[in-house]
Amino acid sequence: MSLLYLPAEFHLHTVLSACAEIEMLPPLIIRQAQKLGIQWLAVTDHNSAENAGALIEAGKRAGIAVLPGMEVQTREEVHLLCLFDELEPALAWQEQVYQHLPDLPNREETFGSQLVVDAEGEFLRFQERLLQTSTSLSVEQVFTMVEALGGLVIPAHVDRPAFSLLANLGIIPPGLHITAAEITPRLTPAQALERFPQLAGLTLITNGDAHRLSEMAGRTLVRVAEPTLAELRLALAGADGRKVWVT
Ligand SMILES: [Zn+2]
Ligand SMILES: [Zn+2]
Repeated sequence: MSLLYLPAEFHLHTVLSACAEIEMLPPLIIRQAQKLGIQWLAVTDHNSAENAGALIEAGKRAGIAVLPGMEVQTREEVHLLCLFDELEPALAWQEQVYQHLPDLPNREETFGSQLVVDAEGEFLRFQERLLQTSTSLSVEQVFTMVEALGGLVIPAHVDRPAFSLLANLGIIPPGLHITAAEITPRLTPAQALERFPQLAGLTLITNGDAHRLSEMAGRTLVRVAEPTLAELRLALAGADGRKVWVT
């Protein structure tokens, strides 16, 4: 089987994230990906997957694979990327997350607006509830629940001094199925390992955590047979000739 080398970006916010710029619309994200040669995306808005379908559709038209996902915030204020193969389990996960979010309205003037859009980037509705806050789910619960839905959890920006597994918990909790961790573009995998020896044995990936188009980077290169979650798991494990590099 011939393997593909796909520049990827697995941590990306759309206009559904209050902190994202208004330019983070499906057609513009896909155009930026094309410009940069990024061939595989995951959409990971804060505590919601409501724009995932739109980005998948926009990607399909351009031949760019998009995994539906979410950046969930646990009760320990840890950010975890949750990736799925299909929209259905991603939306099932979203329902569970919504049940564990405080039922509060978004304060647009303070946080920014949360827009649900279609594949063309046309406005559909506001998401009125507050998304950008902690759920009542623990790190352990997120791993268990996402895995039960067939999803993959990757701790986000572990080198950041806040909202990260290492900053908030101090350790990689034993007993979790952690195979990979995301580091920011601010440091290389070698520098990350030097600063955080706890990361030894994990596959490190880098994403732009893009809240604006210019933050998309495509610095993670993945060698897989096809852009599916099963193949990504193999690549993160370095199995069957699949592999991940930070470029
Ligand atoms: Zn984050
Ligand atoms: Zn993020």
